[in-house]
Amino acid sequence: MSGADRIIYMDNNATTMVAPEVLEAMLPYFSELYGNPSSMHTFGGQVGRAVRTAREQIAELINADSEEIIFTSCGTESDSTAILAALQAQPEKRHIVTTRVEHPAVKNLCRGLDSLTGHKHRITELPVESDGTLDLQRYEDSLGDETAIVSVMWANNETGVIFPIEEMAKIAKNRGVLFHTDAVQAVGKIPIDLSTVPVDFLSLSGHKLHAPKGIGVLYVRKRTPFVPFLIGGHQEHGRRGGTENVASLIGLGRACELAARHITEENTTVRALRDKLEKGLLENIPNALLNGHKTQRLPNTANVSFEYVEGEAILLHMDRFGICASSGSACTSGSLEPSHVLRAMGVPFTAAHGSIRYSLSVYNNEEEVDFVLDKMPAIIANLREMSPFWQSK
Ligand code: PLP
Repeated sequence: MSGADRIIYMDNNATTMVAPEVLEAMLPYFSELYGNPSSMHTFGGQVGRAVRTAREQIAELINADSEEIIFTSCGTESDSTAILAALQAQPEKRHIVTTRVEHPAVKNLCRGLDSLTGHKHRITELPVESDGTLDLQRYEDSLGDETAIVSVMWANNETGVIFPIEEMAKIAKNRGVLFHTDAVQAVGKIPIDLSTVPVDFLSLSGHKLHAPKGIGVLYVRKRTPFVPFLIGGHQEHGRRGGTENVASLIGLGRACELAARHITEENTTVRALRDKLEKGLLENIPNALLNGHKTQRLPNTANVSFEYVEGEAILLHMDRFGICASSGSACTSGSLEPSHVLRAMGVPFTAAHGSIRYSLSVYNNEEEVDFVLDKMPAIIANLREMSPFWQSK
């Protein structure tokens, strides 16, 4: 534990608090309503009805049909299912278009496909500009007759940069190529309307929008070729075997209902808090830089580099005050490796190492932002005093 007497949680892109209303909706399904939703008896049938309601609540948030919602165990399973389904349904096509900044759930799956399937695949990882955005012409040029699927995230988990998914999905559709978007960070933070955005697959994850961990959804548009990933019983109309995680999916349904209600607040109040935090950090700390496009970005995310200091050291000092955030570098095998996202954007070594991602939610307030703004300048100044890079810059 940090030893701080309270927690200031600004790490909502890592995971979120389960909303009290969500927990309340889930609790009966751990106790009196424990029936199997597939059972023929009335006792199980009432659980089956609650599962249907949750499916409708989720579909409504993204303006889809409830029959297009498949429950999974997490965002990672949804990503794997979409990509593997597209490949299996079109065995003659072995090319995938994705980006250099995808989450490992997509990046590592694509990179490991040859050993997983025993077939050779061609993977195009599109580069990004220095502000994290994509070149659409380059994307269009990368599509070919042998392209099985495009998999591009809706919003980046580290920088919050939003990709033009509507335009990209339309281009893929015109070329007859299936389109998957990992919308794990976007759902609940920005409006999503699948009646106008022609994606074939969309992944989302409960724990990023105030539902529990271990529940996800794969949206599959009607008539999209599909091969299940988990083969078993008839659950999810044979599209994903396994008894449903009832309590969690009920929670996700409720969380989606709340997210629809909070989306304006996300884009006004949360955005204003994020902007205040970002502005304060950039103005009050020398050699602080924003990573990612200034406006084409999630309303809750600020990724700021403090040059010549190490992200993990910054996090440890923030932790002493109970401030939770993430760094853009991870300690792997004894060396600090800057994130693949910041590297793809060409962020210089001295800045990439000192990057901190603050990700807010509707549960943050201005007093917390002020507290963080009060503490950060001294944290960075103290670390720089000990930094040989800072001394010799
Ligand atoms: N995709 C993105 C963009 C994410 O941010 C995450 C989680 O951090 C995932 C996928 C994986 O989701 P899950 O933790 O539910 O497997």
